[in-house]
Amino acid sequence: MEFVFQRSYRGPLKAVILDWAGTTIDFGSFAPVAVFLRLFDRHGISVSKEDVRSGMGLMKKDHLRRILNRPAVAEAWQQMLGTPPSEADVERLFAEFAVLQTEILRQYALPIRGLAETLADLSRRKVKIGSTTGYLREMMDIIVPEAEKHGYKPNALVCPDEVPAGRPYPWMVYQNLIQLQVYPAEAAVKVGDTLPDIEEGLNAGLWTVGLALSGNLLGLSEAEVAALPAEELAAQREAIAEQLFQRGAHFVIDGIWDLPPVLDEIQARLRRGERP
Ligand SMILES: [Mg+2]
Repeated sequence: MEFVFQRSYRGPLKAVILDWAGTTIDFGSFAPVAVFLRLFDRHGISVSKEDVRSGMGLMKKDHLRRILNRPAVAEAWQQMLGTPPSEADVERLFAEFAVLQTEILRQYALPIRGLAETLADLSRRKVKIGSTTGYLREMMDIIVPEAEKHGYKPNALVCPDEVPAGRPYPWMVYQNLIQLQVYPAEAAVKVGDTLPDIEEGLNAGLWTVGLALSGNLLGLSEAEVAALPAEELAAQREAIAEQLFQRGAHFVIDGIWDLPPVLDEIQARLRRGERP
């Protein structure tokens, strides 16, 4: 057979799957950093912000493992306790982490600027809103009511402890698509601020949008971003965009406030029969 029929989806964009910290709430993704720093400090192990931020986006227990595997942290642990960190240590530290995290999550549930306008835009497009996160359900049970007070309530939320594994696996996205009753995958877009966010979206077959300024890769508050000299901000933005594009992001924008024009572009590409 010299020619084969090739089907392509040319319909409307149907869903956006949003990450939480650093994407819709908690500009700079500070909540987990504050907690991990406090956790290690309690045990007399010094960790850097870079050590902590290296695992962001992963399910929180995987995030903890990632930090413990950082060479400087593993060495400090070894010196302090005489053995490398074990899986039992992970379990013990994670239990402590969960308690500490619960205390401070509420303080970091403020929506990122432009979220309300973007949500209104999604509503006009009749695009459904799903969400995934590295936080466990018990942590989200604290954040969700806070976010709701500020007007943010996605149509679906799936946590990593409700599926076989968190990012970079696609399971949370699949579960969102089922709950939202959305198909095909190319009718949906994943938006997030970390490299595992991008991988999760690509693994699920979605369009992916990375965020350069509001999230973990820059790791600054909105005031700190505003105070950066223009040249430095541009250089940082470019370096972060490079990382996100290298991981496979289809688009990189500064924050959720810049999403609508990207959705226009994706819709136009779908109409032309393109796929992610
Ligand atoms: Mg995030």
